[in-house]
Amino acid sequence: MTEHASIFDLHTHSTASDGVLRPAALVERAAARGVRVLALTDHDTTAGIPEAREAAQCGDLHLVAGIELSVTWHGGLLHVLGLGIDPENAVLGAATARLAGLRETRAAAIAERLQRAGVTGALEGARRWAAQGQITRTHFARFLVEAGVVPSVNHAFKRYLGRGRSAHVTVEWASLEDALGWIRAAGGIAVLAHPLAYRLSGARMRRLLSAFAVMGGTGIEVVCGGYSADMQRTCAQWAIKHGLRGSVGSDFHTPETPWNELGRLAPLPPSLQPVWTQLGLSDPVS
Ligand code: AMP
Ligand code: MN
Ligand code: MN
Ligand code: MN
Repeated sequence: MTEHASIFDLHTHSTASDGVLRPAALVERAAARGVRVLALTDHDTTAGIPEAREAAQCGDLHLVAGIELSVTWHGGLLHVLGLGIDPENAVLGAATARLAGLRETRAAAIAERLQRAGVTGALEGARRWAAQGQITRTHFARFLVEAGVVPSVNHAFKRYLGRGRSAHVTVEWASLEDALGWIRAAGGIAVLAHPLAYRLSGARMRRLLSAFAVMGGTGIEVVCGGYSADMQRTCAQWAIKHGLRGSVGSDFHTPETPWNELGRLAPLPPSLQPVWTQLGLSDPVS
């Protein structure tokens, strides 16, 4: 993969969910890497937006208020980004409060399963990693690495936390319709995150993309952190076929995974309409 620097990065995480940088530090790192339009899209929360916004005002960076919503579609997990949302919106606020409750309940259930697998103290351990943020499987993974149970975060998912593994807990997250409704209510646009992560068959993907478009979805991520040219081409073809726009986002969580580095993104294929023209940005949109 060639090294590219993008002025747009519309998918990132902070300590409000499973990122390791505080919102202000994320904004600073993005600006230092040449990002001019940054979306903070924490899992199921907008709690990091005020700090990120304040940091962005101090620098030469436009902050797009965002969220990454957990969605259950036909029994599987999807991630839908809301971009350009009002983080104070009451409809979205009620929804994220409910999702936070699901996360808490699931965390206790994950810890119970880990206990049965012989790992003690996981709830406290994961909570320590989550600090004030939403508790996620990433925090359990970091705890498992810290406790010496697995050699890496990736191993933690492969052995315990991934779908079908011993500590996996299925959750009925938001419906696709609800998620798109909340994003719309909060004045934002909906973008399907990392479309290749779901491992859907061709027919399933077509069904998802038509449903997403019919329900008012605006675009799909085409240039994601770590996506090869082939993967980008696949996503670009899907976008064009379904009349959806294209987005670019690193899915940055930590400086330790260089393939998700802030702004390290290829340009959006010119055949696609970008999502950012829908975000009401004045400067510095090309
Ligand atoms: P959750 O929303 O709590 O279910 O956690 C999902 C998060 O776990 C994703 O957003 C990723 O950051 C992380 N994740 C999922 N699968 C893996 C994996 N195989 N390796 C590393 N991180 C993963
Ligand atoms: Mn994550
Ligand atoms: Mn995601
Ligand atoms: Mn993400």
